[in-house]
Amino acid sequence: MKRIVILGAGESGAGAAVLAKKEGFDVFVSDMSAIKDKYKQMLDSHGIAWEEGRHTEEKVLRADEIIKSPGIPSDAPMVLKAVERGIHIISEIEFAGRYTRSKMICITGSNGKTTTTSLIYHIFRQAGYDAGLAGNIGHSLALQVAEDPHEYYIIELSSFQLDNMYDFRANIAILLNITPDHLDRYGNCMQNYVDAKMRIIRNQTGDDAFIYWNDDPIIRRELDKYDIKAVQCPFSELKERGSIGYIEEGQYKIEWPTPFNMEQESLSLTGRHNIYNSLAAGIASNISGIRKDVIRKSLSDFPGVEHRLEKVATVRGVLYVNDSKATNVDACWYALESMKTKVVLILGGKDKGNDYSAIRDLVAEKCSALVYLGADNAKLHAFFDPLGLPVRDTHSMRECVDACYELAQPGETVLLSPCCASFDLFKNMEDRGEQFKDMVRKL
Ligand code: ADP
Repeated sequence: MKRIVILGAGESGAGAAVLAKKEGFDVFVSDMSAIKDKYKQMLDSHGIAWEEGRHTEEKVLRADEIIKSPGIPSDAPMVLKAVERGIHIISEIEFAGRYTRSKMICITGSNGKTTTTSLIYHIFRQAGYDAGLAGNIGHSLALQVAEDPHEYYIIELSSFQLDNMYDFRANIAILLNITPDHLDRYGNCMQNYVDAKMRIIRNQTGDDAFIYWNDDPIIRRELDKYDIKAVQCPFSELKERGSIGYIEEGQYKIEWPTPFNMEQESLSLTGRHNIYNSLAAGIASNISGIRKDVIRKSLSDFPGVEHRLEKVATVRGVLYVNDSKATNVDACWYALESMKTKVVLILGGKDKGNDYSAIRDLVAEKCSALVYLGADNAKLHAFFDPLGLPVRDTHSMRECVDACYELAQPGETVLLSPCCASFDLFKNMEDRGEQFKDMVRKL
């Protein structure tokens, strides 16, 4: 019997294990850390062997194939040993893709994945389509394929999932943008990261669609390197050669496969970046044959996603906005760009090798003060203090929100859009966003 070993027992690993068991493999799950109770129960109830707190080499290296969770770096010692043995390493999405013929709508990019994925899912559900939400957004594709199959899957793909995908085929592939992110896991080489993102079009055929942002210089450059089989569906902010989706005279327009338009003003998501996300989602829905009135309504009543430019409260005339998900510089740029008032900006956390030059001018133009929130704020001081804005140095959310409360004038916005990961002071970006909202509500 073929042996499948799964490294990492989070949502994707546990789901992959259940599917592998159902498909009749000898399955073993190994996790270096503690496995959450809910996943242990899931594995136990399917009679799947597991270990936690270690990878037992002898058990792992007997695998015919390994499914690696996206959180485990490709240079982790156990992974390197498996590669040395010639064991094929795949991602959960690749594995699940082998056992379903459902339509795959896949979304990747450096920013906007979760927003666009959720928006497409919202449109499909409102249209009454049988759709499942999967991938990086926190739901296992494999588990759904095994136990709750759908006709369509709307799948958010991170570069780490794409890294270990080989034969998977996206019926609709969406590439939102490519800007530097996670370079620490790509040998500090931007091209490695770009190559990972471009894997989304592997195996696409002439029956498939490739939707991408035409204004992105990196994507445009990359297109020349590939023999793209899918129908190309570029979108851009303004009408441009080739683009099938754009904004023209206040109208949101899609040209293909059938014409669609609506007032830009009616889009529920605001900010320039969300025009792109809304175009990508509208094109994917239009291609999938969803009725135009449903697309129109769904694009205008989508409630948005938590921790992404989420309005929290107005206190003493100051609006507090939670954009905790802005864990890189580009995301913060778009957040700042969309602000209509002066901003007290909260920056900081675990820096992934950030170059802040991209936001320097916007910070100078839009911000009235800066609040640094991190275990180590030295790099922020060195870069931003020379702008001459009032600056506060804080090391907990309470200190941070208190500082914002003191600094912000009525009519201004306090924006948590920190450019950094959260792991220095918080469990994750959700925890950071929740703490921010809690403190704001207590003001
Ligand atoms: P991802 O899942 O790719 O991290 P999210 O939808 O969660 O993307 O958004 C992450 C951050 O990026 C948010 O701060 C959001 O305001 C910003 N953002 C969303 N869409 C885009 C886009 N198309 N381009 C640039 N930034 C974006």
